[in-house]
Amino acid sequence: MSDSPPVRLRPEIAALAAYRQGRNPPEGGFKLSSNENPFPPLPQVAERVAAATALNRYPDGAAAALRQRLADRHGVDTSSIHVAAGSVSLLAQFIQAAAGPGDEVLHSWRSFEAYPGLVTVAGATGVRVPNDAEGAHDVDAMISAVSDRTRVVIVCTPNNPTGAVVPQADFDRLLEALPDDVLVLLDEAYREFSTGSGGADGDLVVAAQREGRLRNVVVLRTFSKAWGLAALRIGYAVGDPAVLAGARSTAIPLSVTEPAQLAALVSLDHEDALLERVDAIARRRDTVWRALVAQGWPVPRPWGNFVWLPVPGDAGEAAEVFHRRGLTVREFAGEGLRVSIGEQESVDDLLRAAQEVVEFRQAAPPEASVL
Ligand SMILES: *Cc1c(COP(=O)(O)O)cnc(C)c1O
Repeated sequence: MSDSPPVRLRPEIAALAAYRQGRNPPEGGFKLSSNENPFPPLPQVAERVAAATALNRYPDGAAAALRQRLADRHGVDTSSIHVAAGSVSLLAQFIQAAAGPGDEVLHSWRSFEAYPGLVTVAGATGVRVPNDAEGAHDVDAMISAVSDRTRVVIVCTPNNPTGAVVPQADFDRLLEALPDDVLVLLDEAYREFSTGSGGADGDLVVAAQREGRLRNVVVLRTFSKAWGLAALRIGYAVGDPAVLAGARSTAIPLSVTEPAQLAALVSLDHEDALLERVDAIARRRDTVWRALVAQGWPVPRPWGNFVWLPVPGDAGEAAEVFHRRGLTVREFAGEGLRVSIGEQESVDDLLRAAQEVVEFRQAAPPEASVL
């Protein structure tokens, strides 16, 4: 409903659509619209969460045990780790800490749908740099788009929704070109799925920071995707303590729950079991990708837990084809579909739906048949 509000809201907020969540699938179908991990929680994680009974108490706002664990893992001090309720919260906090009215936040487009809204809420101005033809960040165009108002540059690798990585050399070139007082947020929500991609690696950023370099870069990680904890809302940042302190000052206090902290700790104890699942999803993705290419889809190799199907002009109709087969996918009006790699049982239906889309587009008039 777009009734005008009875009180004066900030006009840019009144005009802003709320974040749109992926649809639920039809009965017996599969939800492939939110890049969720199709595996149920590890029993050890579920048990630990169920055993968290002090629900009348506030959580540890400093997330001390988890931060210590993450600090050990990354070879940094606990002051270089900041935990928040998912990496969307982290993004919001860092953008608010660094950019306000008159400032610019630069990111590629298409990229993560949450970015533009977060920038607007901060009162800042978003600058969207179109991806190249392969759906990858156009790093040279990003460099050209930097102005003296640029305060934040977001780099999403692998990129949601196109699945392309930002090659390490491109990332290095971007960092080289940026003034070193501009905050760079390296959003690695899908990094665990991108082994072998040659994409920019946040671990190298952290290694450089141990030597006092790249202090303007913050690495963002989440437990929502590879680690399968999307329901609990938890993620973390690694970076310069003074930069993290800025983000922490903008945070809503005590928003990372105790069950989320415990689940993250237990998950880190069982990393090998979780990485086996990540490996299974990545192999499933590669199988799907090869089958799509065989169907004629011109899609570059995807590196997240999803595939991008460009269907310019027909995304709505294509989404309906999937929906009729019981699959909910994410539709980007006029551009294409993002289809998550879900349960093994969803794969045949996914490929049949994709084939059906190829056929209806071939039957369409020539000007609309560019895949
Ligand atoms: C899913 C996703 C996130 C993570 O979201 P959480 O808030 O941690 O669940 C962050 N960035 C991108 C690009 C994503 O796709």
